[in-house]
Amino acid sequence: MARLVMKFGGTSVANVDRIRNVARHVKREIDSGYEVAVVVSAMSGKTNELVAWVNDASKLYDPREYDSIVASGEQVTSGLLALALNEIGVRARSWQGWQIPVRTDDAHGSARIQSIDPTRLAEGFARGEVAVIAGFQGVHEATGRITTLGRGGSDTSAVAVAAAISAERCDIYTDVDGVYTTDPRIVPKARRLDRIAFEEMLEMASLGAKVLQVRSVEVAMVHRVKTFVRSSFDDPLDPRPGTLICDEEDIVEQQVVTGIAFSRDEAQITLRRVADKPGVAASIFGPLAEANINVDMIIQVVSDDAMTTDLTFTVGNADFERAKAILEKNWADIGLQSLHGATDVVKVSAIGVGMRSHAGVAARAFRALADKGVNIRAITTSEIKFSVLIDAEYTELAVRTLHTLYGLDKP
Ligand code: ADP
Ligand code: ASP
Ligand code: MG
Repeated sequence: MARLVMKFGGTSVANVDRIRNVARHVKREIDSGYEVAVVVSAMSGKTNELVAWVNDASKLYDPREYDSIVASGEQVTSGLLALALNEIGVRARSWQGWQIPVRTDDAHGSARIQSIDPTRLAEGFARGEVAVIAGFQGVHEATGRITTLGRGGSDTSAVAVAAAISAERCDIYTDVDGVYTTDPRIVPKARRLDRIAFEEMLEMASLGAKVLQVRSVEVAMVHRVKTFVRSSFDDPLDPRPGTLICDEEDIVEQQVVTGIAFSRDEAQITLRRVADKPGVAASIFGPLAEANINVDMIIQVVSDDAMTTDLTFTVGNADFERAKAILEKNWADIGLQSLHGATDVVKVSAIGVGMRSHAGVAARAFRALADKGVNIRAITTSEIKFSVLIDAEYTELAVRTLHTLYGLDKP
């Protein structure tokens, strides 16, 4: 029998009524003959509450205990959905990550799935049961400890389960009816896409569109999982198909720019008057890399005196204080005059595989942003995207400007 994975995010399971609604979506697929594995998130807001409790209890917490605490939200919703399904006559049972098991490495808080054993799930299907799986969690078998996959990780659980049970497709149900040209909550004129290429979705997700966790797109791409993003708020008896993530070749009308993403999770660091000599970049970025701090955009400008240089780069917001502390510790080695930091910055990016074959795409954006008085602090480009770092107060203006510029507005 053909198999299907259905994933429901936090807003879709926010209370028992919504969980009952989810059960109706599941029943539809059972009635049409599928063997179904459902992956659920915690109720919306729950994981944030759990994380806040962890921070309250211990500033420098043990990440293994963090995982055992934050994984609990998904345990609750998987049990509730199993109950709701049985109530409407659909046989179901809940599964926690360790029971399947979903094996991961031991990078607590952002663990990677290594393998998922399909045996027990298949036995459940043979008994006529829906498998309701707690997303976001797994187990590190050598230590026996519960792990979690990083925020938004239930998407990755779902796609990985789909690969493991050879599902025909993986439907990611959420609170929007598909992937849009940009966050529809920021730009009402955003358009829903029928299809988006894996590479583009990967960039969109990495550059801030939180509709899918980055790793879920990687897993879908590597394991060729046919993945849709669709709405749980559609009528369970008459749902729309949503957006298919697919190969570039399967998209007929390719635009130059497919989407605009933005990320508020950015901090800028500027080092002034750094000695302009060989090895200086290594003395700055070496210690940051050792501390596992990801550096993204980098700009180097020669100062007026031609002896020193100014260096600007970005790190994730969460790493900002740590990065500053490391640089201050290495102040003498680096030989700089001053260090400035800013967290009220945003990275806005345009993404599209069509950029490979079109020149001057980014240049048009620089002009359009300048016309709106938006100052660009840093730029990066690659084959299918470019990003600009700007002041946070201009986020919406910049996103809307680029959205219109590249013809993405709804007609
Ligand atoms: P879930 O709880 O179902 O996992 P998320 O909140 O993680 O849902 O992701 C869905 C949200 O992603 C939407 O409500 C929307 O605001 C946001 N989003 C950001 N960029 C996009 C985009 N390009 N297309 C669709 N949604 C987007
Ligand atoms: N509940 C987890 C989170 O809020 C995982 C998820 O929803 O995908 O990050
Ligand atoms: Mg999500």
